[in-house]
Amino acid sequence: MAKYSGSVCRLCRRENLKLFLKGDRCYSDKCAFDRRSYSPGQHGQRRGRKISGYGVQLREKQKVKRIYNLSEKQFELFFEKADRQKGITGTNLLVLLERRLDNVVYRLGFVNSRAQGRQFVRHDHFLVNGKKVTIPSYLIRVGDVVELNEKSKKIKSIEDSLGAVVRRGVPQWLELEKEQLKGTIKAYPVREDLTMPIQEQLIVELYSK
Ligand code: SF4
Repeated sequence: MAKYSGSVCRLCRRENLKLFLKGDRCYSDKCAFDRRSYSPGQHGQRRGRKISGYGVQLREKQKVKRIYNLSEKQFELFFEKADRQKGITGTNLLVLLERRLDNVVYRLGFVNSRAQGRQFVRHDHFLVNGKKVTIPSYLIRVGDVVELNEKSKKIKSIEDSLGAVVRRGVPQWLELEKEQLKGTIKAYPVREDLTMPIQEQLIVELYSK
């Protein structure tokens, strides 16, 4: 399935949930979901539509895929990796997604969204343990240090993002040294650290069919 290239705010309305895909705008009164929290399209305001069990599982998968800005194929690869690990597959999946470098730079507040994180990682703005990493799906490990490339430290949007991160906060498994423009991975996230309303078990059920 091709990657979605339309308005990301439509995705929030489609999933009936704020997915926080547009940085600071999501916290402002310009948020499209806050203004019109019904599904997009001609029949969006129709009430009482019944969704099958399969439909509910599918929507949950789409929701997570959209939060982390992944294509179908990328999501499937992550699921397969999570399934091969010991422990609870659904939790493994979410932890793996959180460990992606594009997510980590977003969580640390260097960028406003995961989409921007992906772009900035690709454009060579970050170092991991002092080495250039340009792969957004790169999985960070405990003890890794993520920092801005010297040449990237003066980018205005990074300064703005760091100013705005106060609003969403840096999760406790990460440590941000704002002055040094540097973050350290203190631990892997645990399920309780992930506060979005996600029912990952539904995704596991979907893929078990
Ligand atoms: Fe979703 Fe953010 Fe757009 Fe609101 S502003 S609809 S939370 S992407």
